[in-house]
Amino acid sequence: IYISHSDLKHYHERIFTDLIFDLIKKHKPSIFLFPSTEAGNALAARLAYRCRTGLVSDVLNLELKKEENNLLISDKPAYLGNIIVKITCPETRPQMCTVTMGTFQKNRLKKPDIEREKVQYNFDLLKLRIKIIGNPTRKDKPSATLSDAKIVLGGGHGLLSKENFDKIFKLAKNINGQVGGTRRPIMDGWMPEHLQIGISGETIFPDLYLSFGISGAIQHIVGITKSKTIVAINKDPNASIFKTADYCIIDDAPKILEGLLKYYRG
Ligand SMILES: Cc1cc2nc3c(=O)[nH]c(=O)nc-3n(C[C@H](O)[C@H](O)[C@H](O)COP(=O)(O)OP(=O)(O)OC[C@H]3O[C@@H](n4cnc5c(N)ncnc54)[C@H](O)[C@@H]3O)c2cc1C
Repeated sequence: IYISHSDLKHYHERIFTDLIFDLIKKHKPSIFLFPSTEAGNALAARLAYRCRTGLVSDVLNLELKKEENNLLISDKPAYLGNIIVKITCPETRPQMCTVTMGTFQKNRLKKPDIEREKVQYNFDLLKLRIKIIGNPTRKDKPSATLSDAKIVLGGGHGLLSKENFDKIFKLAKNINGQVGGTRRPIMDGWMPEHLQIGISGETIFPDLYLSFGISGAIQHIVGITKSKTIVAINKDPNASIFKTADYCIIDDAPKILEGLLKYYRG
């Protein structure tokens, strides 16, 4: 179901809320999902209040119990991401969630047999108490291509310097991989923000995730568990990442990176 109109080019809380609330009343969906963006979170909160239903924000995983009246179980980080809790909304409908962007892999339908229904735009702008005098320039953040990558090289604080971290980008280029990492190298100024993997970054689905000097904080781990094979390099034999990794290499990460770069130089 979609509505198309020039008034909808930019998110407007009143217009979007009114239009979608009317659609919810008419179609009575059991589940309503929003993207966990600034606009998505704002809109979801308003609609949940109007529908007198529950809302789970920043969801990382969803499970549907068809046999229990289509009950949705949402995994969501709590206490600064140190634990993942499961939340359900058994009493009211629709069940609403905002889903963290990049959490699910894109699954293009081979034969799109979706029926589309266009709904007439009927919002009366005179209802607005705020007059729109201009619209913001849209600034999209650079989007990482991590969720489609077959090989991801992850860099952490254990790479020790920007000079070492730059080598990850070189290696990725030589082996046709993509670079991602933890929050630490972003704070260190070694890596741009949009390459963060984890709870507040991307979720990855590669055949191989090779991590260099990453401790394995839960906030990072939730973004890598859908990798087919995880190889971790850390000098500390007790590093948490070894609990998740398929192959554990206890060694100096910058040294191994340098060796791989020499090997794959071409
Ligand atoms: C609300 C919130 C959200 C967050 N979201 C995210 C997120 O989305 N993604 C994310 O990644 N983090 C996130 N974090 C941060 C997270 O908690 C960790 O602080 C971060 O992941 C740690 O990064 P790191 O492993 O690179 O660094 P560190 O924890 O400092 O670990 C460095 C590791 O390198 C190893 N090491 C050191 N020297 C060497 C060497 N020479 N060779 C090999 N290994 C070496 C050390 O043994 C250590 O294990 C979040 C935190 C909060 C509070």
